[in-house]
Amino acid sequence: MTTLHFLGFPRVGAKRELKFAQERYWRKELSEQDLRYVAKSIREKNWYHQAQANANFVTVGDFSFYDHMLDLQVATGAIPGRFGFDSQQLSLDQYFQLARGNQQQFAIEMTKWFDTNYHYLVPEFYADTQFKANPNHYLEQIHEAQQLGYQVKPTLVGPITFLWLGKEKGATFNRLDLLNKLLPVYESLLNAFLQAGVQWVQLDEPALTQDLPAEWLQAYKTAYAQLSAVKINKIFATYFGSVAEHAPLLKSLPVEGLHIDLVRDHKQFSAFADYPKILSLGVIDGRNIWRTNLPHILDHLQDAKALLGERLWISSSCSLLHCPYDLSIETQLQEKQPELYQWLAFGLQKVQELSILKKALVESPSRVQTELNESQCAAEARTHSQLIHRCEVAERLANLPENADQRKSPYQQRIKAQQAWLQLPNLPTTTIGSFPQTLNIRQARAKFKKGEISVSEYEAAMKKEIALVVKAQEELDLDVLVHGEPERNDMVEYFGELLEGFAFTKFGWVQSYGSRCIKPPIIYGDVQRSQPMTVAWSQYAQSLTNRPMKGMLTGPVTILQWSFVRNDISRATVCKQIALALNDEVLDLEKAGIKVIQIDEPAIREGLPLKRADWRQYLQWAGEAFRLASSGCEDSTQIHTHMCYSEFNDILPAIAALDADVITIETSRSDMELLNAFADFHYPNDIGPGVYDIHSPRIPTADEIEHLLRKALKVIPAERLWVNPDCGLKTRGWSETIEALKVMVKVTKQLRQELTN
Ligand code: GLN
Ligand code: ZN
Repeated sequence: MTTLHFLGFPRVGAKRELKFAQERYWRKELSEQDLRYVAKSIREKNWYHQAQANANFVTVGDFSFYDHMLDLQVATGAIPGRFGFDSQQLSLDQYFQLARGNQQQFAIEMTKWFDTNYHYLVPEFYADTQFKANPNHYLEQIHEAQQLGYQVKPTLVGPITFLWLGKEKGATFNRLDLLNKLLPVYESLLNAFLQAGVQWVQLDEPALTQDLPAEWLQAYKTAYAQLSAVKINKIFATYFGSVAEHAPLLKSLPVEGLHIDLVRDHKQFSAFADYPKILSLGVIDGRNIWRTNLPHILDHLQDAKALLGERLWISSSCSLLHCPYDLSIETQLQEKQPELYQWLAFGLQKVQELSILKKALVESPSRVQTELNESQCAAEARTHSQLIHRCEVAERLANLPENADQRKSPYQQRIKAQQAWLQLPNLPTTTIGSFPQTLNIRQARAKFKKGEISVSEYEAAMKKEIALVVKAQEELDLDVLVHGEPERNDMVEYFGELLEGFAFTKFGWVQSYGSRCIKPPIIYGDVQRSQPMTVAWSQYAQSLTNRPMKGMLTGPVTILQWSFVRNDISRATVCKQIALALNDEVLDLEKAGIKVIQIDEPAIREGLPLKRADWRQYLQWAGEAFRLASSGCEDSTQIHTHMCYSEFNDILPAIAALDADVITIETSRSDMELLNAFADFHYPNDIGPGVYDIHSPRIPTADEIEHLLRKALKVIPAERLWVNPDCGLKTRGWSETIEALKVMVKVTKQLRQELTN
């Protein structure tokens, strides 16, 4: 008997039912009861699919109204005291206030869950944090599933990962010191599960795939020794990376089972082949959308079964939370790209795959021969498909000239050639690209997509917007202008739709945080540009003004990072393919007279591997890709890049190695702390630290901007300092945008005066 279980399921529903219900609830258009009803039906469907697939348990506790880490903060009583809420009596409204903030309190901070695009709410730990168990969230789901007749396996994040992912607040202390207080609460939770008749609990400890300090590794022993007092079977789940190096530690832990991610690293199996207890193998990719070659996996599983016998469990590599829900509703894709459709598997299809594997192992492969054959055929068809392989692309990449990723001259020389024609004053002002995406713009785009307006009507509407944006910038007296990006729905989707090798789904949504979902494009084949993508818009914008117009592109790393990427070649190769396609665009822009070009790379930091040892290699190819995209142009062409959403202190050398002439970067929220790092590192090129936060509608005061600019001037020479907002303005309204930029320009002019005196 091989056991099949799931680490977790998507929770927003096949068509984002939870999102729409939540948002209606927040607008007071839906009652709490009705919202709970929607949630319940999503859970029921999720369990139904698991049961249909012959899973030995259904997973509970993975459903959340906002975030599973927030649920755990409530379940352990570790909600921030600043809200004044009682975790034992928390209402649903209060729960949402923790996540979204209220009049008095900022929301709990959010950050990315490991290397995914899912954001969790970061626990706030204080030296005197008191924990108190409140198992209700889990018990409700346990009872609900039991009433439907299912065997259940609750899942929750384990104590070490929970502490590790939290942040220390208040007086300095070490949050690991809280472990002693936290463990009794975990014991209570586990005891509550036991009393509810639960036999197995899954404790997620993905922190072990990161670089943990020795005391944290040691803490695993203490923690799990103490939890072993509760006689419930524990499966210790790791994912997102290899834990082979921790095999001795893991083998010594008093847990009843271990889950390892064989998709990220299939070689780690050998480190655990002699594991004497339950070994759960994550063999289906929970992070991507490709169909698996089942016979190939089955071979490995049969070997594993020979070693482990009954102790073999199978699952997806990680929770299916990171996958879209159901491919079968993508009827458009199925019609238009039937070949590609055959290669894909979303959440429910992965459940099916695991079900087939289980049947093959428990009964015999012959029982599922048809399914196995189909799977293999699809895999082979994909390998050889004309859709994927474009010889020109591979050849171009293989035959790149030696200096393809180098500008013609070093920055010191280039900047002179640029300044010669740009004639910019000290402290030049610019913006990051987008201007407000008004209802007007979104409606025009929607109508165009639906075929309700013609190409020329649509183009005229966009040109009108561009003209508005150009005029506004001239009136503001900004120095380097932008066209405002009205034609872009999304900075990745826009380019994906115009490049070869990309496909799009209708319902391929993945939760990003709370009710927010994203629909990443699918990069399935060699990437190539068949036509200019932005030239006409930028050229039109340039025709309206004598000031320099900045062309706007999304960088190769960001496009890669925010897509589902093919897994038959390396990410590095895909990234370089995108880079070359973008380079074609850069050179066309240059030819069209657009000689300031910004290549946005907001996602470069988040692509960093979880283990530091792997950083160098990533940064090397990511940097090369950026440079491939931005090289080949004249010295006098000025390349900008833009970064935001993260801290960059630890990758400054890699950022400098991009060799962009100008970098604009988000700094205002950290009061320019980042700049010290740039100064210490002697960042060599031009830099535009954001002087106000665009994430809030608040108009910055002149004093605030002046304060930030003076701070910047202390560490960056005036000749290399630019003045700009933190990020694009698309989420802002027009009036606040103009007011804020007015302040920015006014302060800049005063400082310029002062500098020339
Ligand atoms: N050019 C983009 C914009 O202004 C940059 C967006 C981003 O950094 N995320 O919208
Ligand atoms: Zn940005």
